Amino acid sequence: MEWEPEALKELEKVPEHIRSMAKMGIETSVGKRGKNIVTIGDVKEAQAQFRALLGKDEKTTKIAVVRCDIVSETCPGVACFKAFNKRKVHFEEYGRDAEIIGFFTCGGCPGRRVFRLVDSLLKHGVDVVHLSSCMLMERGYPKCPHIDEIKQMIIKKGVKVIEGTHH
Ligand code: SF4
Repeated sequence: MEWEPEALKELEKVPEHIRSMAKMGIETSVGKRGKNIVTIGDVKEAQAQFRALLGKDEKTTKIAVVRCDIVSETCPGVACFKAFNKRKVHFEEYGRDAEIIGFFTCGGCPGRRVFRLVDSLLKHGVDVVHLSSCMLMERGYPKCPHIDEIKQMIIKKGVKVIEGTHH
């Protein structure tokens, strides 16, 4: 079983006397899912399960994704969800307990809908908003010219922002 460097680093936080047992448990669980590489998401998931067993369960991470209104005309968002479901690319650090609670478009330039919808998401306990990769890439359409304003507006509301989803 291979381990990604970040996953190994996370494993090092486990107290030494139970580390090899934890490592074995994680590898067994990853193997049962048909994988042969341990990611940081796998380690975090195991940590969450362990905390739950001790009655010290942490609150689930609630994620929202905002994407480009223009690109949404041609993109149903499958790649964003695939990346989240497989905990890949910009979703790699989340454990299995994380959930997407919102997936919305900016409402058109200059992102007029974001302010209102982040307010609404706050009522549902959103922890982090991902700016979709379509807002950040130059691929057949230009990078969003309003990205910095949108990002700062979300941060000012006290919500963490991560740039990117599947790229
Ligand atoms: S503000 Fe940015 S993300 Fe929204 S429609 Fe305009 S270019 Fe796309």
